[in-house]
Amino acid sequence: MKVGHITIDAVSDGSILAPPTFVFNKPTGEDWAPHQQFLDENGQLVFEMGGFLIRDGERTVLVDVGIGPHSDPSRTGSFMKSLNALGVTAAEVTDVALTHLHFDHVGWASDGERPLFPNATYRCHQADWDFFLGPEPYDDSLGVQLMGGQRAIEILPALAERVETWSGDETVLPGIDVRGAPGHTPGSTVLTISSGNDRAVLLGDVVHCPVELLEDDWEMIGDVDRALARRTRMALAREFEGSDIPMAATHFPGLRFGRLLPGTGMRRWVFD
Ligand SMILES: [Zn+2]
Repeated sequence: MKVGHITIDAVSDGSILAPPTFVFNKPTGEDWAPHQQFLDENGQLVFEMGGFLIRDGERTVLVDVGIGPHSDPSRTGSFMKSLNALGVTAAEVTDVALTHLHFDHVGWASDGERPLFPNATYRCHQADWDFFLGPEPYDDSLGVQLMGGQRAIEILPALAERVETWSGDETVLPGIDVRGAPGHTPGSTVLTISSGNDRAVLLGDVVHCPVELLEDDWEMIGDVDRALARRTRMALAREFEGSDIPMAATHFPGLRFGRLLPGTGMRRWVFD
């Protein structure tokens, strides 16, 4: 993906499969009937793991860093290999921007003792830093059991001296703006990448599957505050439908970009 002079590449950490009726508050196959394009040939949801590499010639930025090395090696754990295949070493990464701090987005951030991107500044929302490392840290052990990886509480403390947080809507790096999109987590953030008149949007986990931009009343089981997450998503869908701005989220299959089109009765999603 090119955004003006900025390049965005997908960095895959692998993928897992999930039964679609389990992930959302829509238990029946009937509800999924109009959305078969989002399922694989066996009717499963493909949940990519990984992040995005953003290069502008000056900085080398990662947005989310996968589920990590402590995951099922037959499915996930390929992030560093994918990064190296793009010609980038861990030492060359200047910034790691985290859309939120769930374990499946911070897996490669540290080995528990030291940052795995030794020269990077780590950036995230202050509200998530407080939520995941506060006096009662968010319990993500069930997710770790189901999907593999390591608890965020085991990974994040090692970043403490390298973290710079944002707390509002701001420009965090040249060409990278953040805006709060709470609900999935308190500090859940959407990133807009811009250069000249070009823009692209990284949705983090505000959306896990494009179907959530089409079905206003679906809720995702991983959202910390489901009602708020749904309102945030609906507002974004209304804002971006018909905008022709490419959007991608960390769990979209292949980390692919697509666009949200207005439709009669229902919006439509088209992968680029
Ligand atoms: Zn996630």
